[in-house]
Amino acid sequence: MNLRALHKLSYGLYVVCSRKGGRFNGQIANTVFQVTSEPPTIAVSINKQNLTHEFIKESKVFTASVLCQETPLSFIGHFGFKSGRDINKLEGIDYQIGETKAPVVMENAVSYLEAKVLQEIDAGTHTIFIGEIVSAEVLSEKVCLTYDYYHQVKRGSTPRTAPVYIEEKKIEAPGAPKYRCTVCGYVYDPELGDPDGGIKPGTSFAEVPDGWVCPVCGAAKSQFEKIE
Ligand code: FE
Repeated sequence: MNLRALHKLSYGLYVVCSRKGGRFNGQIANTVFQVTSEPPTIAVSINKQNLTHEFIKESKVFTASVLCQETPLSFIGHFGFKSGRDINKLEGIDYQIGETKAPVVMENAVSYLEAKVLQEIDAGTHTIFIGEIVSAEVLSEKVCLTYDYYHQVKRGSTPRTAPVYIEEKKIEAPGAPKYRCTVCGYVYDPELGDPDGGIKPGTSFAEVPDGWVCPVCGAAKSQFEKIE
């Protein structure tokens, strides 16, 4: 059996938000999909350990913002690798309060959907929430970010709580060594550099300034380890 076959499935990348009382939270999810058209329903698979899971369970609503291809890695990292238990993830983010009274992230979004939960399916580590769409808008005609593009081009990493997470083997690094963030698993590739963070392609890790931080989770350069 080769579970790499799962990597051939296509997904988008979304910010899924919910609320609990007056508190808001959001997270990155790649598993938002339409279930039926009459009535229009969507589903999302959320890890039970995530705060957003607790919020959706409680409020029975969620929103999903579809991200554009040019979404910066730092934005994805903000929603994907930080916990709403530690910070208010919506602070400093462009969002609106939707029909569901839950936040709808507008930043880097090409469209959004809001849903009221009709059904919950216990899937072991995750719950699949199926919701009826109560509001939806298209915000731009920019290209959507696909999960594949995120992996191939942005070279992000997958949070351990994501449904698609698979323990990855260490990669052989030809030429200048690659370095991995020990906090989130992001890999610094000298060939790609980190243009969003001001590091030109072709910059070895040693040449990266000490003040540089992981573009995904914000960890210091000292938190990186060389990939053997
Ligand atoms: Fe990191």
